[in-house]
Amino acid sequence: MISHRSLVACVAVLLTALATSSLAQTPASQSAAIPSPQSVLGFTPGDDRTIADWSQITDYFERLDRASDRVVVQTLGQSTLKRPLIVAFISAHENILALPKYKEIQQQLADPRKITQNIQRNQLIADGKVVVTISCSIHSTEIVASQMSMQLAYELATAQDPETREILQNTILLLIPSPNPDGIDIVTNWYRKTLGTPYEGREPPELYHHYAGHDNNRDWFMLNLKETQLITRLLWHEWFPQIVYDVHQQGANGSRFFIPPFYDPPNPNISPLLLRQVGLIGHKVAADLQAAGFKGVLTNALYDTWWHGGFRTAPYFHNSIGILSEAASARLMTQNTVTSEQLGRATSRGMRNATEAATNFPDPWPAGTWRPRDIMAMEMIAARSILSMASKFRADYLRNFYELGRKNVEPQANLGDPLAYLIPAGQARDEAVAKMLSSLMDQGVEVFRLDRELHVVLSPQVLQRVNPVSEKLGTYKLSGQMSAMQEVPAGSYIVFLSQPQRSNVGALFEPQRYPNRLTPQGEAERPYDVAGWTLPLQMGIEAPAVVAIREPASERKLTLLKDENQVRADLALTLRKGDESPIKNPVKQPVRVGIYRGSMSNMDEGWTRFVFDTFNVPYTSIRDFDVRQGALNSKFDAVIFPSQQSAQIISGNAAGTLPAEYTGGITEAGVKNLKEFVQNGGMLICFDNSCDLAIKQFNLPLRNTLQGVKSSEFYCPGSIVALEVDNKNPIASMLPARLPAYFINSSAFEVAADANVRVIARYAKENVLMSGWLLGEDKLRGQIALAEVGVGKGRIVLFGFRPQHRGQAWGTLPLIWNVLSSATANSSE
Ligand SMILES: [Zn+2]
Repeated sequence: MISHRSLVACVAVLLTALATSSLAQTPASQSAAIPSPQSVLGFTPGDDRTIADWSQITDYFERLDRASDRVVVQTLGQSTLKRPLIVAFISAHENILALPKYKEIQQQLADPRKITQNIQRNQLIADGKVVVTISCSIHSTEIVASQMSMQLAYELATAQDPETREILQNTILLLIPSPNPDGIDIVTNWYRKTLGTPYEGREPPELYHHYAGHDNNRDWFMLNLKETQLITRLLWHEWFPQIVYDVHQQGANGSRFFIPPFYDPPNPNISPLLLRQVGLIGHKVAADLQAAGFKGVLTNALYDTWWHGGFRTAPYFHNSIGILSEAASARLMTQNTVTSEQLGRATSRGMRNATEAATNFPDPWPAGTWRPRDIMAMEMIAARSILSMASKFRADYLRNFYELGRKNVEPQANLGDPLAYLIPAGQARDEAVAKMLSSLMDQGVEVFRLDRELHVVLSPQVLQRVNPVSEKLGTYKLSGQMSAMQEVPAGSYIVFLSQPQRSNVGALFEPQRYPNRLTPQGEAERPYDVAGWTLPLQMGIEAPAVVAIREPASERKLTLLKDENQVRADLALTLRKGDESPIKNPVKQPVRVGIYRGSMSNMDEGWTRFVFDTFNVPYTSIRDFDVRQGALNSKFDAVIFPSQQSAQIISGNAAGTLPAEYTGGITEAGVKNLKEFVQNGGMLICFDNSCDLAIKQFNLPLRNTLQGVKSSEFYCPGSIVALEVDNKNPIASMLPARLPAYFINSSAFEVAADANVRVIARYAKENVLMSGWLLGEDKLRGQIALAEVGVGKGRIVLFGFRPQHRGQAWGTLPLIWNVLSSATANSSE
């Protein structure tokens, strides 16, 4: 909703404009009345050692909204820690007055089924504006763009030159000063506190998103976080931007600025037309930066389009152009000095080093001082360049966007291709089903409920690949015609591929097959992010592909789902009210749980808190001090160590690198207290890397067989693998015998033959990889994935994989709840 105040302001400005309509141009006095960031903040954004916090940024945008007839600010909702999340609409005054009309045009172009005639389509393209989203500093330590946003808005609000006027005529900019307001304050508070101390310019020692830290940009299909949910609604339910520009910073010592084209491999679900348009805009930005005299711009390197779930990667699956820029970082808002030796050592996929000229890096930067001002200047040019392209090729962008959607709603091309994915009723995974369907709906994917049974042919190939966990549905042969038809009961759900987001449905339901990419030395070439993420697999949900349906469309009884609560009502789950998670605590007894939160920020720790909060399982965060202090049995029945290197847990941040209160770990004293805790009957639960702490410090009879193995022999950078679980063990009860689990450079164990170790799950003996990339499968086959060891009166549980990865791996969460349900509770102590 546009605020009432803004509408009043718009109308007031309109009346003023009418009263002075004899003037051909907007009067100069109007722009004089628009406050500059300098006049409000007392400094120009980007000045060395200055920083505006979130209240200053939102205050500035409110002033712009009041003063400029080109700017309207909307509050989308509240962030995780209850700060306002805002977007500024910036366009020509007449467009701002007609925002509802342009939104309606976008919604029609986004769904070509609403357009029945070419004349209608041509009119929409003739009338529409290119909608561009620019989002700043989702990663809060990449702080400069959030400051830049004010200057960019000011310049667009005040400029009178013909080119800016043309941009404002032809485009509508949705400028997001930051999609992570909480993080802006975490960084500004820290920066101010350390300014003028030896720690000036260092990053804050806490996650800059309450739960996700840097992973807040890995959430754009799962939609776990408030911020992601609010912006996804803005982008993919309301405005359908043709171009999304996500402004980041990278490390300090490499190229000065990365802009697409991207590196290999491309995701096969992304339309080639989109990849070409991404490249075209990227080269335009690079050329404009070169023309303005900037050196060190890199293209075709490091960053790829394989992974899903980023601010700029999700748009590809909504038929939109996603652009990323990565400026070299300063030290927060403090200048930095970079030497040519440092540049010479900076190497990445597609760049030998940052001193050597190449076709994709024609003008290396010659080392020296690097300031926030340099970052801001390049980001301003990039933003301007993208808006200029959008404006000059307005009709092309609208037509291409429409055409991609139109191709997606066509029927399946070949007999035997998947035409839908089914979520059969009765999976006993109701909370997971409700979450998956609501995430899909929240990003605009259409989901239908079967109100009457359907008869379908399932794809045997996809069934076997996607759903080896399925015993109920069995395996079917496609050749048997009617005999292959399966009855799917009413109450099941179906997601058709023939919808504007066909590529998103494919990218989320299919298993990923990452290509085997090696360096010339034969080592695995690291992908930018994970290799596999198939949503039903991560969530432990059966979702076979359908290749034929007996009933013609006219005989099907389907209901298009509206929202999460409709699904929750169907499944007889508690309805969601407001922000509270409606999920019932699945732990069968009261257990006092501690989750270790050390001095080094750890995203796996944040995600652990996230799943506990989401499932309403009570816990206490344990700090280093608490572990050093001991007497843990008096406070906890179970202590969880999220995945973290053993040395980080024991030593923490090194003395001298941060103020004293942020240094040190649990120390040897803490290790001793942990031993006492387990000896006395406590349960220690370790995820992935932290298993190493337990194995070494408790001399457990297990060994991580993957430790020290070269990436030419074994590599698995974020993939879904199959476990074989002993479901007679209470920890694995009610779970399928073959269970998908998330593996991200994780662990696998072997045990001494005579050892008293109970194995709960092993990596499968064959067909281990379910989605992603696994090099050297033999190294994983049959190794231990989950085990428990008795120590004294207590137990240690070792998860080799990530049972709660990014809040996405719902399929393995029951293992955590079952472990806690089996802990010896002494809450009466
Ligand atoms: Zn970033």
